[in-house]
Amino acid sequence: MNNNEIFEASKKYMPGGVNSPVRAYNGFDINPPIIKQGKGVRIYDEEGNEYIDFVLAWGPLILGHCDEDVVEAISKTACNAIAFGAPTRLELELSKFICETVDNVEMIRMVNSGTEATMSAVKLARGYTKKSKILKFSGCYHGHFEGFLVEAGSGVLTAGIAGSAGIPSETVENTLVAEYNNIESIRKVFEEQGDNIAAVIIEPVAGNMGVIVAKEEFLRELRVLCDKYGALLIFDEVMSGFRVAYKGAQSLFGVKPDLVTYAKIMGGGLPSGAYGGKKEIMQMLSPIGPVYQAGTMSGNPIVMAAGLTTLKKLYENPMIYKHIEEIGDRLEQGIKEASKENKIPVVINRAGGMFTIFFTEKETIESYADVKNCDNDRFKRYFIHMIKKGINMPPSQFEALFLSAKHSSEDIDKFIEAFKSFEG
Ligand SMILES: *Cc1c(COP(=O)(O)O)cnc(C)c1O
Repeated sequence: MNNNEIFEASKKYMPGGVNSPVRAYNGFDINPPIIKQGKGVRIYDEEGNEYIDFVLAWGPLILGHCDEDVVEAISKTACNAIAFGAPTRLELELSKFICETVDNVEMIRMVNSGTEATMSAVKLARGYTKKSKILKFSGCYHGHFEGFLVEAGSGVLTAGIAGSAGIPSETVENTLVAEYNNIESIRKVFEEQGDNIAAVIIEPVAGNMGVIVAKEEFLRELRVLCDKYGALLIFDEVMSGFRVAYKGAQSLFGVKPDLVTYAKIMGGGLPSGAYGGKKEIMQMLSPIGPVYQAGTMSGNPIVMAAGLTTLKKLYENPMIYKHIEEIGDRLEQGIKEASKENKIPVVINRAGGMFTIFFTEKETIESYADVKNCDNDRFKRYFIHMIKKGINMPPSQFEALFLSAKHSSEDIDKFIEAFKSFEG
């Protein structure tokens, strides 16, 4: 079966032919390639076409596809330990390693996805503060948990308009939305609702409206407001953790979160997630505290082994981040020059190994409002052009592209060449 035949057959058995919506290339005139294998930064579809991959499983594969050490850890562990639902030494090793090598995480709980991590962190914050409301930012994504699927209404304080069917309005009544990088907007929410806010959850480097780095003074003000009103500050580092730096986005700013969520890189490419933070808060979790959260597969040995191998390799080889910074810089400069030459205006936002190229006349992109004004039609033409040139990237202008230890300068130059030949 060729790519199209497999995709058409998949539609018969899986809604939209996929298990996660963005993979379906909705709104484009082409079907997604069906990916069969990957090695390093190269992936291959069922027809044998080769692509340089800038998706990397949506971020996790910072060591590239099928890194030898990760594969070995997975296969060795699988011979003796697939699942027990009992405590294992591997869980201790990964938990200890994370607590000892990142900041502001004294205790951690393993789960199975980013969504699970963020929804559990919010429940914990509510249990700890005995308050109900949560504050999120328009354009930030924290997984598909009902309470997070809220779009910003016109006013900053418009409490929840559900962004998905199947969500009772009561469920999102407790979700407040403010504007990213807008200090006025958070002051206003806190003035009106501060006493009821259990937690503020934010991507300190946003990746889910395209890459936007938070302004330091904005995060500082958030910290001040959280302390003043007794709300917890949750950094959702599912994407940025171990990516923008080993210690994540929190190491880029002088602002300490109370809780942090991880997933993606921390599982080495396997289904994973975790949330952690201050001991005093984490000890509210059952079995020692009153906040119930559980998982049959949580702390799975194979996932722990893949995660531990990945994180150890990253921690012990700071050169990886240096390499990623260098190729990231090369890419950024190359795109800026090409954009001038071709008179195709763009803004490129980048934090370490994550970046987005926005098609816009604006000078900067700093909020969801800026993002929404980008030229989507041009993006669609660009996306199809790039995939035909063998560059695999997310089919949306509002996603991050990822770099890895295995991308070479030549791979970056191929990306720039492909961009140069785009006529607009
Ligand atoms: C990917 C992502 C999630 C959701 O993680 P899943 O593993 O897909 O459930 C949550 N928050 C952020 C910031 C993410 O990038």
